Amino acid sequence: MELTLDFTSDEVFDVAIIGAGPAGASAALYTARGGLSTLVLYRAEADGALGVTQQIENYPGIRGPLSGYELLKLMRDHAKDFGAKFVRGKVIATELNSDVKKLYTQDGREFKARAVIIASGAMERTSKLIGEEEFLGRGVSYCGICDAAFFKDRPVAVIGEDDYALEETHFISRFASKVYLVVPSSKVKAPKEALDEVLHQGVELMLHQRILKIEGDQGGVKGLSLQDLKTKEKRELSVDGVFIFMGGNKPSVDFLMNQVEMTNEHCIVVNEEMMTSIPGVFAAGDVLCTNIKQAVIAAADGVKAALAVDKYLNKKSKITSQW
Ligand SMILES: Cc1cc2nc3c(=O)[nH]c(=O)nc-3n(C[C@H](O)[C@H](O)[C@H](O)COP(=O)(O)OP(=O)(O)OC[C@H]3O[C@@H](n4cnc5c(N)ncnc54)[C@H](O)[C@@H]3O)c2cc1C
Repeated sequence: MELTLDFTSDEVFDVAIIGAGPAGASAALYTARGGLSTLVLYRAEADGALGVTQQIENYPGIRGPLSGYELLKLMRDHAKDFGAKFVRGKVIATELNSDVKKLYTQDGREFKARAVIIASGAMERTSKLIGEEEFLGRGVSYCGICDAAFFKDRPVAVIGEDDYALEETHFISRFASKVYLVVPSSKVKAPKEALDEVLHQGVELMLHQRILKIEGDQGGVKGLSLQDLKTKEKRELSVDGVFIFMGGNKPSVDFLMNQVEMTNEHCIVVNEEMMTSIPGVFAAGDVLCTNIKQAVIAAADGVKAALAVDKYLNKKSKITSQW
């Protein structure tokens, strides 16, 4: 986790963007190029829908084929060229109602900005595992940084398959005596180097697993029941903790705690200028549940939000194009 910053913690950015996918990175390019001090917070390097995309060949101007992560790096570097600061940190809470908005990350940092663009995508899980709710806080966790130390010298399982899950696994394996990385699909959707790094730490990779149940008793988690989808063989891992970092297709909006207006499906509602129900708070990309989920559409949304931020902060009467 990147903890060093090249700005002071009480700096107030013009705009903070949550998410470094095509929506967030494109917004950052425009706000930074437009002279606004720009902070982008994101969970992990090859994260989000584009981060896990193996191959993309329909992004205009980029002939490819290249991986989604390679395209993301191009977008982020472009925004960085104009001064946007990208900082890894999962946003877990926000205070959006005052003029200076505050964002809090999982590792305990606070960031301030005069405008916020929510571009956190739609990769949250919709369903729970059997035993997940029962043992939440008693062995089940969604946060390595918060809880890994409780499992010092004890065996744990990590369920997940993307770069964010690997990053958390990397941290957890510094504490646990044994880490099983349980992957529902047949391969890990993350750069090979990230996987090699956790394997090098002694993490045991278990691919193609159906998670049947988190087992436990009064004392908390005792195990994880699995079925190998290839051999159909069932197995129980004896573990004291289960860390869950699985994705799905629900908008990633938990950190908002319903502060902005959303639909029943947790899709953020915006006006034609991408502004949410709170002045100075904008949203873009898959988090809006647009009916066509494509990188170029998320990028265009991000640009619209960025130009609207410029109008809002500079008190313009209308949105102006950037030339
Ligand atoms: C398997 C797959 C294949 C696809 N193939 C194509 C394709 O070929 N062509 C195409 O155009 N589109 C494709 N898409 C769709 C495209 O990837 C998405 O529409 C696009 O990535 C959405 O962009 P976004 O920026 O809104 O969200 P995402 O790309 O999902 O980015 C979300 C960002 O938010 C960050 N984030 C989330 N929660 C937090 C938090 N709490 N704190 C901080 N940061 C957070 C993540 O780290 C990430 O940086 C594909 C999608 C998938 C899933």
